[in-house]
Amino acid sequence: MTPRELVPRESEIAVIGLAKSGRAVAMLLRKHGYNVYASDVASSPDTGRCAEELRAQGIAVDVGRHDLERLARAGLVVTSPGVPPSARPLAFARENGITIASEVEVALNFLEEPRIVAITGTNGKTTTTALIAHLLRGLDLEAVEAGNIGTPLSEIAGREQAPKWISLEMSSFQLHDTPSLKPLVGVLTNLSPDHLDRYSSVEEYYADKRRLFANADGDSVWVVNHDDRAVMRMARDVAGHKYSFSVSEDAEACLDARTNELVVLGAPLLQRRDLPLLGQHNVGNALAASVAVMAADRSHQTQKARKGIAAALRTFRSLPHRLELVGEFGGVQWINDSKATNVSSAAVAIDGMERPTVLLLGGRHKGEAYTALSDVVRRKAKRVIAYGEAAPIIATDLRPVVDVVRLGSDFDEVIQAARAAARPGDAVLLSPACSSYDMFSNYEERGERFRALAAKEA
Ligand code: ADP
Repeated sequence: MTPRELVPRESEIAVIGLAKSGRAVAMLLRKHGYNVYASDVASSPDTGRCAEELRAQGIAVDVGRHDLERLARAGLVVTSPGVPPSARPLAFARENGITIASEVEVALNFLEEPRIVAITGTNGKTTTTALIAHLLRGLDLEAVEAGNIGTPLSEIAGREQAPKWISLEMSSFQLHDTPSLKPLVGVLTNLSPDHLDRYSSVEEYYADKRRLFANADGDSVWVVNHDDRAVMRMARDVAGHKYSFSVSEDAEACLDARTNELVVLGAPLLQRRDLPLLGQHNVGNALAASVAVMAADRSHQTQKARKGIAAALRTFRSLPHRLELVGEFGGVQWINDSKATNVSSAAVAIDGMERPTVLLLGGRHKGEAYTALSDVVRRKAKRVIAYGEAAPIIATDLRPVVDVVRLGSDFDEVIQAARAAARPGDAVLLSPACSSYDMFSNYEERGERFRALAAKEA
């Protein structure tokens, strides 16, 4: 397929954001001969280095500001996953009627017949995306994870020889600006309120998720969560073949409660105990990934292929910051689930706890009520330590059901309080249900601090 012309050659493409994806898409566009202007409000050593590298390729770069006059003349504005839709240059582009495309949308234009399995949903995207790529590799196929995870798609599109199979994680923001996405298989993991700090309503957020299905036709293949009513409602009238997965009922991919086996397309695939991941939600992720890989090609359904998929499931390890067991110190398990940045993902983690739990909740409030955690917290948590900007709201919402200690924004103090509260046989769980931006640069930094402090003085 010949790439289409994105803009007339004499005009310019503006790339917003100079992190990994912004850098990759600017390079890709330049490689294909476009005039590129890239800018980032942040001026850090990282953006400075990136700017130098891009300038050397003949790309115009501004660091520390966006030149809106220049942007006004652009034929296309390209956005990266880290840039919020409310960011000034994007708002400006919308006001001026300039088309906005995601970095993924641009990359798709330059990939030749990619075999894409696209994954979206509120939670479990990264895990399922990584699982799918791992299972495809287990079938000896050349596969890579991309999108919101791992390598930017633009970097893959810029390679001499791009891998045929791409497991592509898509956030709601990316879906918003990727109208060409037409995956071979699309997976919708689950839906629950999130990002209410960036969307004006849940409906608006779900509308972006629905864009996964925008180009559905009779040949499309979808994998949907049978246990999630919002998912099933959204997928009901979508064209194409639908495979469903369930951890509690009969489905194309399901957990057999009698034998404790993962059963996919009518035959047992693996014993639950052979899947090395904590939590029932991860059984759901594994079922979704397995059926997606099998549905992607008939040759992935043979006995031999099923064996390859089962073997790959056995060797998959949990990703950092997702129910990651940091260690057991003085009889107390310390578990890092820093990636649980919304209420529904924290609920799943808490529900999976098997020990009395000291629960660390807090960070930047995103607009969801913590009362939704009342039931699991009552059953599993012996104490909640509420910290950061959200602490007062968490305390008000959960005091009726649990002992809540309210702290400020000193993370050392949070860990000390957790250590003081935990007894041998307990667990300390960081599953904050909030974003990290009030105290850390990102959830990774929060998880790393947790890990380091948990091991210290242990
Ligand atoms: P995402 O990329 O959608 O944020 P991740 O795989 O990174 O998803 O997991 C994020 C958090 O959500 C983790 O803390 C994990 O414990 C929880 N989680 C993972 N899979 C699911 C699921 N299927 N349902 C609910 N929560 C999940």
